[in-house]
Amino acid sequence: PNRNDVVNFAAGPSTLPTVVLEKAAQGLLNYNGLGMGVAEISHRSKEFKAVSEKTVSDFKTLMDVPDTHEVLLMQGGGMGAFSTVVLNLLAAWKLQNPESNAKTTLDYIVTGSWSNKAAGEAKRLTQGTDVSVNVALDARNHSQDGKSFSNIPPANEWKYSENPAFVYYCDNETVNGVEFDKSFPYDSLPPNTNLVADVSSNILSRKIDVSKHAVVYGGAQKNAGIAGLTLVIVRKDLLVDTDAAFNLGGIPQVPHLCDYKRHADNESMYNTPPMFAIYVSGLTFEHILNHGGVDEYSKRSDRKSSKLYQVIDNSNGLYKPKVSPESRSRMNVVFTLPDEETEKRYLNEADKLGLKNLKGHRSVGGIRASLYNGITEEDADKLIEMMKSFK
Ligand code: PLP
Repeated sequence: PNRNDVVNFAAGPSTLPTVVLEKAAQGLLNYNGLGMGVAEISHRSKEFKAVSEKTVSDFKTLMDVPDTHEVLLMQGGGMGAFSTVVLNLLAAWKLQNPESNAKTTLDYIVTGSWSNKAAGEAKRLTQGTDVSVNVALDARNHSQDGKSFSNIPPANEWKYSENPAFVYYCDNETVNGVEFDKSFPYDSLPPNTNLVADVSSNILSRKIDVSKHAVVYGGAQKNAGIAGLTLVIVRKDLLVDTDAAFNLGGIPQVPHLCDYKRHADNESMYNTPPMFAIYVSGLTFEHILNHGGVDEYSKRSDRKSSKLYQVIDNSNGLYKPKVSPESRSRMNVVFTLPDEETEKRYLNEADKLGLKNLKGHRSVGGIRASLYNGITEEDADKLIEMMKSFK
């Protein structure tokens, strides 16, 4: 099939606008008439520096990044950031609490598979240190069946620890289809808490108040480009000398390549950056800016997802939603069909119409339709029509 014959509802890597990819393909072959592709020129050349600077500047505009925060272009994906956040924020904490008997906790708000994985990594990295991990919420314990991620209970039911080095949450849980309603409940936080957000799967799909966060990060490959680039926004006072912090004892050492300050001091060119991925993100940001910015994409996301949920809710039980209405994701719509046979027929029917990659994550099964920024309202309508007629 042609690109135009297919709608890719994959959860990630996900679809990008064809015009963005056409420009990217051209730039990969011959950037700006240089006779060389954008991934072939020196990352220290003035041409690539211009690409990188514009990418960061457009990203700052889209995200309303305040002067208090720095943008880093890193690698390692969302999972890389599970580790770097812990290492860097603990170094910052240690410099503020240099006493040899200082102890702290890291609070995790676990609302789905990804925040659960992040909490697991934090536990690994802090083994044998003066730091412990507190799961302030495990949403599974608040679900009807006691084992699935299907809602986010109100913050007065969470258990923050006394003085955590940070509180961590995932704004949109890609596998489970669970998203914070409008935003994290900032008012629930103890004063001066460092808040960390994983926005890998809903970045640039709605406004987020960066000023309320210590770190906001996301892999680019859903709403913001292709895999290879991790976008990290970090408050400037958290860019610290991690060696000095380590020498005080009680915290893990930080590999140079994971060190936020090192990346910031070198304008994200401490080592060779993922140049093509940065270029594609730059083109994606430009495209979003030229089409109404985050406000417009936020409205589109609301319209696409609410139409789809309506079909699900009005299906007399054929399509069963997995998530309670107030926590339903606008990005990843998950539901089940009555049995395996019907599910197979549904996927076949969709496939015949070019509606691809609708199978749910292998860990939870069912159906998952991902409605990232690259999915137009017309694309979403094709699925909606198919689901009505399938019913
Ligand atoms: N966090 C979220 C919310 C994700 O959806 C994903 C991947 O789908 C990850 C983290 C892990 O990202 P990566 O595969 O880039 O390491």
